[in-house]
Amino acid sequence: MSWVIEGETGAWELVCGLEIHAQVISKAKLFSGASTEFGAEPNTRVSPVDAGMPGMLPVLNMFCVEQAVRTGLGLRARINLFSVFERKNYFYPDLPNGYQISQYAHPIVGRGSVTIELSDGTTKEIGITRLHLEMDAGKSIHDRLPDATLIDLNRSGVALMEIVTEPDIRAPEEAVAFMRKLRAILRYLGTCDGNMEEGSLRCDANVSVRRVGSAELGTRTEIKNVNSMRFIARAIEYEARRQVEILESGGVVEQETRLFDDRRGVTRSMRTKEEAHDYRYFPDPDLLPLELDPAFVERIRASLPELPDEKKARFVREYGLSAYDAGVLVAEREVADWFEAAARGRDAKKVANWIITELFGALNRAGLDIGRCPIRPQQLGRLLDLVEEGKLSGRLAKDVFAVMFETGRDPDAIVEERGLVQVTDAAALEPIVERVVAENPRQVETYRKNPKVIGWFVGQVMKATRGKANPQLVQELLRKHLERA
Ligand code: ADP
Ligand code: MG
Repeated sequence: MSWVIEGETGAWELVCGLEIHAQVISKAKLFSGASTEFGAEPNTRVSPVDAGMPGMLPVLNMFCVEQAVRTGLGLRARINLFSVFERKNYFYPDLPNGYQISQYAHPIVGRGSVTIELSDGTTKEIGITRLHLEMDAGKSIHDRLPDATLIDLNRSGVALMEIVTEPDIRAPEEAVAFMRKLRAILRYLGTCDGNMEEGSLRCDANVSVRRVGSAELGTRTEIKNVNSMRFIARAIEYEARRQVEILESGGVVEQETRLFDDRRGVTRSMRTKEEAHDYRYFPDPDLLPLELDPAFVERIRASLPELPDEKKARFVREYGLSAYDAGVLVAEREVADWFEAAARGRDAKKVANWIITELFGALNRAGLDIGRCPIRPQQLGRLLDLVEEGKLSGRLAKDVFAVMFETGRDPDAIVEERGLVQVTDAAALEPIVERVVAENPRQVETYRKNPKVIGWFVGQVMKATRGKANPQLVQELLRKHLERA
């Protein structure tokens, strides 16, 4: 995918790497037994460990470790059997310990990769540099009281996975495709719910630019907390263009942390970039290095679900779907399951088509996701059977579908009740065909010169039967009557 910024002095290329914080799905926090429930009363899900009380000792939650390993395997990454928790020291009111427990020199997961799919039909590998476990901080609330900041420690100590990518991203679209794919993988694995609005998936984008053809990396800025899929592309593109303008006018890009203002669509400076040594990382003396048994990792590997890429390949192979359709269907596990339930024993391509066009369209308009879809997979399957059996025309099937979506009822019941069964009986259609031909002598003349006009006649008969006639049969009958007319 080639995406360049045409400047005054030539073309520029984007270089971007992402740092993602994904909240681990776990009932308890990373180093305490306190609950991770979202939206609870402030400061009611806090153990003395999470509050940084002196003398309290962190105890590692092995379920969170399992989740990190599971995620690492899903990212086709190296699992490090030896990793170390370190203290990252900084002061902030919502960080009661004065340090965050994180991993630095020895993360639990090393290099991996994610395949992304782009709008031009190509795929690309984005390298994963590492994944490490760390605890979240509390939350500062600035907008409740006019002249005070409140602290909620419910989030303090919740397990996060920080996932860092290589600077492999070359277009804003690639960053979005990566985030979508990563979110799909995390959801399939059940290790993060991927909810960006609630902040359980957060993304910082590192952006630099360089002249097309240059192999060196430019100075980067880090855009913090770009918190919706919609804004990722906008923030990166804005920032890249800003840097090009600076460089072309002879300036230098400051290495700094910037914030994306989603209302104005711009990034603005927040602080100069901190360096690792500012944090004075050192191994946490309260925690032993984490050593994993290879059997522990293998057990997790054996329990992995089928992931989006594998599922997509299987849908292409088993059901003969196009790569595009398969990609759309596997983006969410629930959709993929729904498709398979409807497709069993049927023409899977047709089922896929109906889901992608009709069902997604209806869900979209109703603002529903597949989990709250009023139609069951078997019911859609049955509707397609009725078409296959010649009982419903394609047009009628769409009408029946609309009623099914509204009422959740079975297609057979709707067809019966509304008398929608397709008329395939020549004796019933003959008089209508005859009448349409008799009433339109001018069109019959035109038909003699141009046989394509038969389409117009078919349309008239369909109208007269309110779409219930079998179009093939109508065509046959018309031909007979038009020849005679
Ligand atoms: P830090 O620890 O200071 O945040 P890292 O070197 O770990 O820095 O890199 C963090 C992220 O920045 C990674 O995603 C990496 O791919 C990306 N990155 C590094 N250098 C550049 C660059 N010159 N341009 C764009 N992204 C970069
Ligand atoms: Mg960083």
